[in-house]
Amino acid sequence: MEQRSLILRSVRYLESDRVVTFFSREEGVLTGFARGAAGMSNRFGASLEALTLSLIVGRSHLEGTLYRIHKSAILNPFSNIKSDLDRSYWAGMAVRFLMGLLPPALPEPLVFDNAVHYLESLSGAGASPALSWIRFATCSLDLLGYQIRADACSVCRVIPGRKTLCYYPMDGRVLCTACLGNSGEAEDGLRVTAEILRFLEKVGRRPETVEVDFSTVRQSVEFLDRILSCRVRGWKTVDALPISIV
Ligand SMILES: [Zn+2]
Repeated sequence: MEQRSLILRSVRYLESDRVVTFFSREEGVLTGFARGAAGMSNRFGASLEALTLSLIVGRSHLEGTLYRIHKSAILNPFSNIKSDLDRSYWAGMAVRFLMGLLPPALPEPLVFDNAVHYLESLSGAGASPALSWIRFATCSLDLLGYQIRADACSVCRVIPGRKTLCYYPMDGRVLCTACLGNSGEAEDGLRVTAEILRFLEKVGRRPETVEVDFSTVRQSVEFLDRILSCRVRGWKTVDALPISIV
């Protein structure tokens, strides 16, 4: 069966083979073995480089064994991303997001489409990588069942105004600071303003309708980093990468 796949990681194995982790639209994240794909001038190998969208043909021969990649052809090499260090880092964040949050072999076609859309927008001129990242991460978290909502405080039910709130990434609860003081809740929630929560809620549902300014983008990237640090082991924040949010 042919699988539209995004190559997430590709590691040379012995002289001439590769072990490839890829995100198939129909079958989810799989790891496959590609015999003879390690040569640099090799078209088969080029189609299995990380950050490439390819059509993979292969199969699992036995339950529990590595998928065998028989053939592969490039659909989009995303050359503009690979030739630009800054964009490569932004794209790499999506790779770590997908590898960190998706269990193996669970199909997530909408997350796949979202990831391809993210790489397309990173390849295009003019798009803000940071804003594209916020859209990708928020929409994908939403599709995976981790919606970010600007809910009323879970205790007093007051709808947050412009105040700072405490957001609990594991269940999406929000507490206002007054209730946080009274609740005796251990401080494992994330401090965030209601404005950022409302912005991200909108980005997750109707990205084309949001208006953005630099401060909102910066705070949103930081907040997403903190959420992902809770969910993905060893998550590297944007701060830790040699890229700027501008
Ligand atoms: Zn409250």
